[in-house]
Amino acid sequence: MSFVQIVVLAGGTGGARFLRGVRAANPEAEITAVVNTGDDVTLHGLRICPDLDTVMYTLGGGIDEERGWGRAAESWTVKEELAAYGADPDWFGLGDRDVATHLVRTRMLDAGYPLSAVTAALADRWQPGVTLLPMSDQRVETHVVVAEPGTGNQRAIHFQEWWVRHRAALDPRAFVQIGVDTARPAPGVVEAFAAADAVLLAPSNPVVSIGTILGVPGLRAALLASPARIVGVSPIVGGAVVRGMADRCLPALGIEVSAEGVGRHYGARSAGGLLDAWLVAPDDPATVPGVDVRQVPLLMSSPEATAALAGAALEAAGA
Ligand code: GDP
Ligand code: CA
Repeated sequence: MSFVQIVVLAGGTGGARFLRGVRAANPEAEITAVVNTGDDVTLHGLRICPDLDTVMYTLGGGIDEERGWGRAAESWTVKEELAAYGADPDWFGLGDRDVATHLVRTRMLDAGYPLSAVTAALADRWQPGVTLLPMSDQRVETHVVVAEPGTGNQRAIHFQEWWVRHRAALDPRAFVQIGVDTARPAPGVVEAFAAADAVLLAPSNPVVSIGTILGVPGLRAALLASPARIVGVSPIVGGAVVRGMADRCLPALGIEVSAEGVGRHYGARSAGGLLDAWLVAPDDPATVPGVDVRQVPLLMSSPEATAALAGAALEAAGA
């Protein structure tokens, strides 16, 4: 079965790779990616949108495949020069090529363009082959409530500080979406769900990627109103994360780090949850009441394997 309109909810690395598979599995389709912007942050005066850039660079052929973020063939002179000034924060670096993307984005945002328009302008260069939409044009930034080692006092730090600076070592107590109250889905998001023939949840972080997207007021309702089936892909394979820190995030919400745990967290659409179908790995048998659970290879280890996974997700959406 071939689809006309496919919508994918995506974070950074897992989302980008999965989208590449969806594009390969269905080259004729119109694909819309609704991308997490909860990781966004302003550092060194530049507006940084890690997940949007990971998706854009991955689909546009500019990604550093090894690192999973930033540009291939990158150099780091700007980072070294900032460090020579002792400019804070010293734990976050942008490569020289990447800086240009950030200069263009920040300049356009400062001129008053919404993030969705800026994203479209950047994508004009990269031609990712999918429509890239931020989840929202409003700033919604994920903060992590952590306990200070020693005192136990709680404080909230930006997600980037928790992940990039502390490598998720500080125990997360909660994830908070700063600014979410006044956020709305970005232009095109609600329309994409309404027109979709298939809605796919990429194997992205269920808490700080997919969970953040679903936290935008009105977005979850628009998703559930879609005439399409909703199919999720587990980011947990063989009972563990493939990469990233979902295993640090899930327990903070009381969710078991397993394909079944995440499937149950999303829940059956027929019972107030999200899923019509849930893809898990052959080694991760799972029961999610009310959901069509399918066991398929989930590792996106090659373009062929990734396209096969996307094909299985689309098949589950057409069933
Ligand atoms: P981030 O924004 O860069 O953290 O990326 P995402 O939220 O999009 O994706 C992170 C998730 O992708 C992690 O929980 C990983 O376990 C998952 N992931 C990465 N590679 C694979 C893969 O090959 N297969 C599956 N099923 N999940 C993967
Ligand atoms: Ca991310």
